[in-house]
Amino acid sequence: MPIRKASNSRPASSIARRSKPPLNAKSGAGIAHSLHTQRLAVDLQLFKDGVYLTDSAAYESLGVFWEKLDPDACWGGRFSKPDGNHFSLTFGGIK
Ligand SMILES: [Zn+2]
Repeated sequence: MPIRKASNSRPASSIARRSKPPLNAKSGAGIAHSLHTQRLAVDLQLFKDGVYLTDSAAYESLGVFWEKLDPDACWGGRFSKPDGNHFSLTFGGIK
């Protein structure tokens, strides 16, 4: 499955104008201790034929690859509530 790099072409000025903070956890809307706030987690978005893949199963091969890179590498597809596009490095007991 081809992996397409997420576009990050918006100018910084447009990001600064957003009314919502970029991280839900920092605004209290997400998980308070999310590794995203520590820059130790990322949510990747895979597309097939231009369609965003939301099923965790679509991310499994990448998740298995990620987990083999380091004992602390964690794939969200294994969470009790699967979050297949979540990839993190475990820190302080948080995945
Ligand atoms: Zn995530």
